[in-house]
Amino acid sequence: MRCSSLFLPTLKDNPAEASIVSHRLMLRAGLVRQEAAGIYYWLPLGLKVLRNIEAVIRREMDAAGAQEVLLPTIQPAELWHESGRYDAYGPEMLRMRDRHEREILFGPTNEEAMTDLFRREVKSYKSLPQLWYQIQWKFRDEIRPRFGVMRGREFLMKDAYSFDLDFDGAKRTYEAMFRAYLRTFRALGVTAIPLRADPGAIGGNLSHEFHILADTGESGLYYDAVIEERADLTVDDLVNIYAATDELHDAATCPVPPERLKSRRGIEVGHIFYFGTKYSEAMGAQVTAPDGTPRLAEMGSYGIGVSRLVGAIIEASHDERGIIWPEAIAPYRVGVINLRASDTACTALCEQVYSLLQAAGVCVLYDDRDASGGAKQADMDLIGLPWQVIVGPRGAKDGTVEVKNRRGGAAVACAPDAILGQLAG
Ligand code: ATP
Ligand code: MG
Repeated sequence: MRCSSLFLPTLKDNPAEASIVSHRLMLRAGLVRQEAAGIYYWLPLGLKVLRNIEAVIRREMDAAGAQEVLLPTIQPAELWHESGRYDAYGPEMLRMRDRHEREILFGPTNEEAMTDLFRREVKSYKSLPQLWYQIQWKFRDEIRPRFGVMRGREFLMKDAYSFDLDFDGAKRTYEAMFRAYLRTFRALGVTAIPLRADPGAIGGNLSHEFHILADTGESGLYYDAVIEERADLTVDDLVNIYAATDELHDAATCPVPPERLKSRRGIEVGHIFYFGTKYSEAMGAQVTAPDGTPRLAEMGSYGIGVSRLVGAIIEASHDERGIIWPEAIAPYRVGVINLRASDTACTALCEQVYSLLQAAGVCVLYDDRDASGGAKQADMDLIGLPWQVIVGPRGAKDGTVEVKNRRGGAAVACAPDAILGQLAG
């Protein structure tokens, strides 16, 4: 893609409406624009990142045996009357009426609709377990939408729902999803700390939140330093190592010695939990067990904030010049900067590099605009592509370019045919 034809409205100055760095950078780098409070237009660069995050999540969900479905954003109120949540959910639910005066709503979550699909179609233990996921927009009329896409009203969520015959099966599914979550966040290029959530709920310890560490996070976290120190922790280790939000942390009963206890802020990017037969009982989702008797499905649900992740990853990965995208989700892997578009040797070398990278299947953005070299470098740093290939008049004379890693900074001069080797190494 050439910058001269890309819709990339970058901003030099910090927008007044943004109070945290990820929101500022998302606006400045031209990823999103606000339509209304907590509702966003996704521009080309932002949408690419969103889609890349989706792709990683899909790959890991599929690998864990989950099957993708797509349920409507709109749900009939009856389903929520059946579960008893229509009145309980409160003003966060966007309620509407259709032309026949039937009550409908924009789904804030999908337990009811998934349970409805299950009860209509799955009748026998032979079809179990089932694990269904979707990546779909949700609407929650948050009282205080803020921090850009991190606490939006309309937001994209990956939500999965599991149906098992008994508790042991549900626990196995839960553990498989726990593993899939660790793999997913690792593949996205971020560290997410699993915390035991709400131990009072059904299922005891089968509820975890996953948080990305960031000073601007809305949650206070306490955790054993071993989580950050050791790279080889198993799922069993992680389930058992102490980590809690400040609401659940109690200094008096905390098992971690003070010198090993760390306290940071975190952003909740995922939440998984087992809730037993809560919805299957309320909505009559049962299958025939091997002994011929009816059995209520044991359920769990597993969410990831897909659009929130865009902001959360920026919070965790940026510097004073802009975003630093992890390679897996970067909108483009390489940015080619023509420092002097008026210089024919520079432009010829850029065109050569651009074709070479495209032919090698590298996702590349070429800044061919007629602007100052400094402005182009500032924009490239701002949008945070992992690699920059910088072409200036001096290098163009002897046919060399500079390859720079956005995170590392040091530039290496090389011939065009050595660029791919630099990216690999
Ligand atoms: P929070 O405590 O942040 O309000 P939640 O507990 O209400 O989140 P869940 O119902 O567990 O959220 O939803 C699953 C995931 O969806 C969360 O882990 C979070 O990443 C994301 N999410 C929830 N609410 C929002 C929102 N308003 N904007 C963006 N993402 C959200
Ligand atoms: Mg939650």
